[in-house]
Amino acid sequence: MSVQRTTTCPHDPPCPTPNDTDREAARIVAAHPEQGWSLLCNGIVLFEDTGELLPDGRVIDPHRPVQTPVRNPAQDPARNPVQNPTPA
Ligand SMILES: [Zn+2]
Repeated sequence: MSVQRTTTCPHDPPCPTPNDTDREAARIVAAHPEQGWSLLCNGIVLFEDTGELLPDGRVIDPHRPVQTPVRNPAQDPARNPVQNPTPA
């Protein structure tokens, strides 16, 4: 059950490899928006919060602000240390 196809990219120009800094630019080969993730051509699983799971098992933490507003900052206090950003 190996799904490692990092060197068999059929696209032209070829997609970035999982080791490239622009690895997220790879084509999406399987999108599951209802589950919040997409499988890229280079084997990376890209999550909607910009976190990534690399083919070799490494995990990349979310590193870009999501486009949707934060629904409930209290859900994740570690990532939202500022509780009241607008002191009137
Ligand atoms: Zn590709």
